Amino acid sequence: MTAATSETLAAFGGRPSVPKQLRNPPWPVITEEDRAAVLDVLGTGPLVSNVDGRSAVSDLEDAWAERCGARWCVATSNGTTALTAALAAMDIGPGDEVIVPALSFIASALAPVHQMAVPVFADVDPATFTLDPDAVRSLIGPRTAAILPVHLHGHPADMDALGELADQHRLAVLEDAAQAHGAVHYGRKVGTIGTAGAFSLQVTKNLPTCGEGGLLLTQDADVARKARMAREFGEVIEPGAERDYVSYLLGWNHKMNPVQAAFALSQLRRFDAYEAARRRNVTRLLERLAALPGLIVPTVAQGSTHAWHILRFRLDPVRAGLDGVAPAAFRRSVHRLLRAEGVPVSRYQVLPLPLQPVFVDRTGFGRGHPWTAAPRRPVARAGDFPVTEAVIEDSLTLQKRHLNPDAGDALERFADGFEKVWQHMDTVARMARAR
Ligand SMILES: *Cc1c(COP(=O)(O)O)cnc(C)c1O
Repeated sequence: MTAATSETLAAFGGRPSVPKQLRNPPWPVITEEDRAAVLDVLGTGPLVSNVDGRSAVSDLEDAWAERCGARWCVATSNGTTALTAALAAMDIGPGDEVIVPALSFIASALAPVHQMAVPVFADVDPATFTLDPDAVRSLIGPRTAAILPVHLHGHPADMDALGELADQHRLAVLEDAAQAHGAVHYGRKVGTIGTAGAFSLQVTKNLPTCGEGGLLLTQDADVARKARMAREFGEVIEPGAERDYVSYLLGWNHKMNPVQAAFALSQLRRFDAYEAARRRNVTRLLERLAALPGLIVPTVAQGSTHAWHILRFRLDPVRAGLDGVAPAAFRRSVHRLLRAEGVPVSRYQVLPLPLQPVFVDRTGFGRGHPWTAAPRRPVARAGDFPVTEAVIEDSLTLQKRHLNPDAGDALERFADGFEKVWQHMDTVARMARAR
């Protein structure tokens, strides 16, 4: 410690804690097997999945359903279309309200709007960053049709409490598991607990494809059947039967490409090994960082496992000994100093979802739709979601860099960077107070 204390911060000309070549461990990891899987599809086809019979898409569906212990899996073009196909299959539509967390990726809240339903925003838990069941309870009304919990950053939402609310009020539950492949809640894989669950295979997610993809899980044969119809123009594609081009329902073209399915399937073969390595690397990183006063590392609630898609660190100036410094000022100073050290932290979400212009201005389908179809809830204002707003102000995230199974050395250097900045807390304080 004492030797390091004298080391100059990189922001003031010292040597950065993280050498350049360790700052961005590649993700996804692409192997010869992945390349061969893609070339195999290009060689033998089929290149679209609108045909009856086996393809890389149906292979991926079967593999994911089996791995998660789900009865049905429907592959789609991306995670957002997995969400909208699920909502369509659950008969969520005009006049319905869907309760979504105020802290998430925008797609969680756009999906109900795409179905002409209205998202109603609930605040999140300050430790898990997932839907606060008490907030959800207070928002349930006569138009509430579904709850859309997001397993944000890879931590399962409180599915017991939310499931109880859903049962009481006869609500559907759509899990947004886009960030949580493989996470477990009391012995059950996320995505299999609600009415349906949606995953993203977008290239930065924990189970990546070479571009975009989505997977929908359900235990309900009817939801699976309707999701398949929604995915393909409202048609019924029966195994063994010729396509008849009859549309029974409103459908879209949300199909997955077999090339991307083959790539994801190849990645899935290494998923367990990668997950185990990531768990070791992240645990080690968090152990070191937990020792720094005022740095609140992510934790895992009882009964849950964490997929560690994103690591979110909250910053508490009081616990760091910086009385009178605002959390945002503390966060900004730490951010600047860490970046100079080569620690690639960044912010994730700079606005609560309800304060995004699309929801403040209600720019949906025009003429106020879909909001006109539901009893008018007031437009959100700053201060309505205190936990989400505090989390956005006072936290920094590590994204993607820790997903590579060989990122262990990089993460050790990241921890060095944090420790170095914490050894210069007087400088952090000076910078934060000067703002
Ligand atoms: C990535 C993501 C989505 C959307 O997935 P896409 O495949 O990018 O459409 C939805 N919800 C959350 C929480 C996500 O992180």
